Amino acid sequence: MKFETIAVHAGDRTDNRYGAITVPIYQTSTFVFEDIGKTRGYDYSRSANPTRKVLEDTIARLEDGKAGFAFATGMAAETTVMHLLKAGDHVISGDDIYGGTYRLFQSVMREFGIEFTFLRMDSRKRIEDAIRPNTKMMWLETPSNPLLNIIDLEMMADIARKHNLLSVIDNTFATPYLLKPIEFGIDLVVHSTTKYLNGHCDVVGGAVVTTTDKLTEQVQFLLNAMGTCAAPFDCWLVLRGIETLAVRMKQHEASARAIADFLVKHPAVKRVYYPGLKDHPGHEIAKRQMKGFGGMVSAELRGEAAVNRFMKRTRIFSLAESLGGAASLVEHPATMSHASMDKEHRQKVGITDDLVRLSIGLENVDDLIEDLEQALK
Ligand SMILES: *Cc1c(COP(=O)(O)O)cnc(C)c1O
Repeated sequence: MKFETIAVHAGDRTDNRYGAITVPIYQTSTFVFEDIGKTRGYDYSRSANPTRKVLEDTIARLEDGKAGFAFATGMAAETTVMHLLKAGDHVISGDDIYGGTYRLFQSVMREFGIEFTFLRMDSRKRIEDAIRPNTKMMWLETPSNPLLNIIDLEMMADIARKHNLLSVIDNTFATPYLLKPIEFGIDLVVHSTTKYLNGHCDVVGGAVVTTTDKLTEQVQFLLNAMGTCAAPFDCWLVLRGIETLAVRMKQHEASARAIADFLVKHPAVKRVYYPGLKDHPGHEIAKRQMKGFGGMVSAELRGEAAVNRFMKRTRIFSLAESLGGAASLVEHPATMSHASMDKEHRQKVGITDDLVRLSIGLENVDDLIEDLEQALK
């Protein structure tokens, strides 16, 4: 089966009792045992739940992975994955990552004795120089949030294998429709399903996809032991969203390309970040490893006053955090999505106060461009 078909049919969706075409929401905490020690496959919803299982199987198949796990939020998925490590372990991480991930690493995991080095993942030598005897994991995000930098996954998987590191990628921005990291040899895929996978801004959720039996066992153990799993209704919403992922991603991307082209030519815009632009430093790698360039566009405007004016004036683009929904959003990384990253680190990686990030929604693209045009005037 191809991607679009898997998105609609993967997992055990047959309702033997009534023939419901959509997966029922098994809103139950516990399941009746048939006999002592004998269940019908489920015993307690923290460990596993039938609605969650369909979502987990669907995401695993879309990513070409071994098994999938659904979490309460993207951060719950990340927190669980970080518990594969123990005190004294070292992680090399991309430096321009989601602000909440940076905060989890710097302010939470470090307190438990995990060490981190943040660096730009574009030079094999720089990466290998950062690897220590206690390095156990590499954390990647491509395209990165909010600068849309691209990481060469084939190179990273090669480095990870050579140095015996667990490679983890946050695939939230690309989604498996545009990028399948496991094909390149990445070990573990993480998602905030809050974004494109759900796609309608009506749920928060997360997911992890594994590639080996050992990782599957470890993640299942941690999910159950830590209780970070997703609720049945939330899983159902994400499942419904995934059914239209392919058509949505196509439209997000077509509109994002048109908007990036429009912004490049606009005199009020200093710089546009979009991997689909030929002069983007990661353009060639993105072309090679992705099926498209995605629906996110970032831009630097000329001065903070221009940023404030712009964000107050947009009518269709709403000023809000998050991304990947039908409604277009604009946000200011320095004070919103990346406020949890200290200013010094933000400046070092290039997240300036003049930067705005656009999540291109599913409205008519001419309306979106007209909205940007009037806001930039
Ligand atoms: C939003 C986001 C997260 C965190 O996910 P939540 O569902 O908000 O907890 C992680 N990574 C990326 C790239 C994100 O955009």
